[in-house]
Amino acid sequence: MTYDYDLITLGAGSGGVSASRRAALHGARVAIVEGSRVGGTCVIRGCVPKKLLMYAAQYGDAMREARGYGWTVAEPQFTMADWAASKATETARLEGIYRKMLDAGGVTLIEGWARLDGPHRVCVGQQVLTGRHVLIATGSSPVRDSIPGIEHGATSDELLDLSVLPPRAAVVGGGYIALEFASILARLGVAVSVFYRDRLPLRGFDESLRSAIAAELQAAGITLYPGSAPTRIAKAGDSFLLSLGEERVLEFPWLLNATGRRPNTARLNLASVGIVADAQGAVPVDKTLQTSAPGIYAIGDVTHRVNLTPVAIAEGRAVADNLFGGQARTVDLSLVPSAVFTLPPLASVGLNEQGAVAAGHRVAVFESDFRTMRQAFINGVERTRMKLLVDADSDRVLGAHMIGTDAPEIVQSLAIALSAGATKADFDRTLAMHPTSAEEFVLMRAPARVLEPTPALVAVPVL
Ligand code: NDP
Repeated sequence: MTYDYDLITLGAGSGGVSASRRAALHGARVAIVEGSRVGGTCVIRGCVPKKLLMYAAQYGDAMREARGYGWTVAEPQFTMADWAASKATETARLEGIYRKMLDAGGVTLIEGWARLDGPHRVCVGQQVLTGRHVLIATGSSPVRDSIPGIEHGATSDELLDLSVLPPRAAVVGGGYIALEFASILARLGVAVSVFYRDRLPLRGFDESLRSAIAAELQAAGITLYPGSAPTRIAKAGDSFLLSLGEERVLEFPWLLNATGRRPNTARLNLASVGIVADAQGAVPVDKTLQTSAPGIYAIGDVTHRVNLTPVAIAEGRAVADNLFGGQARTVDLSLVPSAVFTLPPLASVGLNEQGAVAAGHRVAVFESDFRTMRQAFINGVERTRMKLLVDADSDRVLGAHMIGTDAPEIVQSLAIALSAGATKADFDRTLAMHPTSAEEFVLMRAPARVLEPTPALVAVPVL
């Protein structure tokens, strides 16, 4: 049988674009179908604009702190509409680059929403495409039904399109999106309250980092409501009323729903190819990212495993290399570095304390907690915390964690050391670079404590 394409990719986000370009590089005839903007969540309404808003928040801090360094600075004013206009220009520029890359790579872009229509067939409106292989890379969207009434609130999509910031905001959720935007909004002058159901935010991260980030958020003036997810949310005129049980109701003029994301599978007609989505709506895949349907693969957020852009990109390239490059690649997700872009940011790679002891390691915990030179000079309160977890028997470094300025940049480099199997002796042998914060990672001499293995516990992954 002949097909229109060797590969039809559904979704032109980071994963889909990477897979398609790599497949075309191997000589495959590739079409990519996108119903929204090319670039997907990360570029258009996620990582990129979020980080641009974080930079905006950092400028405010820098201007205030500059006074302590001898500058005379008027009280800084932030105008969201100005940022929004620049953001729109930048995302359009990046989308243009993505479109050019697809074109230059020989990938055919088909604009519209894709729907599977049995094996090897994809419909886009009235158009029917046939493909030897199909790659589902449709990503995820914010959950809008986690709590009765939460659909009235904004999600991160709408937040990034605001032209005026509210004076006060309720943030519901205690994960990546909740904390990043709570932190950013507070720095931009919004009075922020965060509601989450666990006793600490960022479930799954190292316990001491979770406590430390809660302390940093409070120090930044954010009000935390641990163990307090609203049971329902009502819209009354321009206000949001959050019910917190025992007839306690709090009113806010604006609400951010940050209660997670769900795979985009509802419109795909998975049943036509015999794929059964799991309870979250995710497409199940095996190690080679193949679905239960022959010739159909899935990568990234739509599989709802490790929902991070670099994972989707690595998976997309692996699928393309395997299908068209004669390779047999799998993506190792055992050491995925990740960062939460709060202010200060938090970054982790490898096991956390709970995960390490549960995996049967005797763990030497090395810690450092200090004020940076930059903070101390202006009598700032922000602290930097670093932690290395080392297998006390083999000396292998199991995990590295940090909260503090540049944590994501530093931990990305440490991830190379961990991937290479570095031991604590390797860290100790490494000369420090002075004066930096990062040097603390090679200067921690004695463990703060040694934890005995408790393998009976369920392993807690870092993500
Ligand atoms: P997360 O899974 O990180 O957090 C979801 C939060 O919502 C959790 O605190 C969860 O609570 C809470 N929640 C879920 N359901 C309910 C409910 N019914 N009632 C109350 N609270 C609820 O999701 P995000 O939306 O923040 O982010 C989605 C994914 O996107 C992340 O997991 C991450 O993989 C990725 N991401 C990565 C970023 C980065 O790399 N910097 C930035 C932003 C997103 P609980 O913990 O109690 O379950």
